[in-house]
Amino acid sequence: MTDATPPPAVGHLPIDRACPAADLIEVPAWGSHALAVHGGAGPRATPLTEEETRDREEALRSAVAAGAAVLAAEGSALDAVTAAVVELEDCAFFNAGRGAALTTGGRAELDACVVRGDRAAGAVTAATHARNPVLAARAVMEATPHVLLVDPDDALLREWGCEVAGQEWFVVERQERALARLLGERTHGTVGAVARDAEGRVAAATSTGGITGQLPGRVGDTPLVGAGTFADDTTVAVSGTGTGEFFVRGVLAHDLHARLRYAGTDLATAAREVLDEHLGRHGADGGLIAVTPRGDLVLAWDSGAMYRGWLTADGPVAHV
Ligand code: ASP
Repeated sequence: MTDATPPPAVGHLPIDRACPAADLIEVPAWGSHALAVHGGAGPRATPLTEEETRDREEALRSAVAAGAAVLAAEGSALDAVTAAVVELEDCAFFNAGRGAALTTGGRAELDACVVRGDRAAGAVTAATHARNPVLAARAVMEATPHVLLVDPDDALLREWGCEVAGQEWFVVERQERALARLLGERTHGTVGAVARDAEGRVAAATSTGGITGQLPGRVGDTPLVGAGTFADDTTVAVSGTGTGEFFVRGVLAHDLHARLRYAGTDLATAAREVLDEHLGRHGADGGLIAVTPRGDLVLAWDSGAMYRGWLTADGPVAHV
């Protein structure tokens, strides 16, 4: 026995409940399914032109529509998030697949991850051969005993039925200019989707080129289960975007799940808390989208801006 002050009770650490900085949208469940996408969060140095706004919102709405079509046909949440992310990877406006951010070596090295609410998961990192890294991530989950593979080669991709592509597909002029500007300005982006299907299952998918000017071989949060991507059928599916190193250190996506599961925190409060605790307090920024097994959505960011879209009873909406 000792009379030393006992340690604080194990459990949820007390944190500043005010969590001031995050912008947050709540979309309560309205039907048998739910879906949200993001196209990356980050400070915006210059405002988008009208045309850029229109193009990006249209691309986000198409991604929501692609996922929504799957869900309306009673497809799974996993199929829905995969379909939405493929759409965003193929669109050069976003930092994933075609249009991805480039390393200091001027190459696209792509990360992607899918997690299903029963904790099945697959991911690829530093991928340079898969046209759609999210499909390769899904193949890792479904066709191998592994969770994370580094840069699956053409032979493996063909065996999985995934389309192969090279740097000429991924590298676009916009990112070459961003790399050239860098060493001044660091851009990030990333795309992701979360969904709840008619059976109440949830899934999340995230795909990224990482951060402009990252070192070759750098792995961010996106392909790490629990950091940038996570799903659990009892709590939440979440896809994050922002400075990956902070998501990794905070195991942010899993922390959101843990707050719901063990502390009984509501999703909106937990989203503000994790952004504040793991990003804001460290001078970092980013955002997340999340869905509960009931179909309630939250989209939250503390980075000034986040490309985002979600499904309403009247169809897809998007804002940049
Ligand atoms: N989280 C991504 C990474 O660090 C980048 C981003 O979301 O902007 O790789």
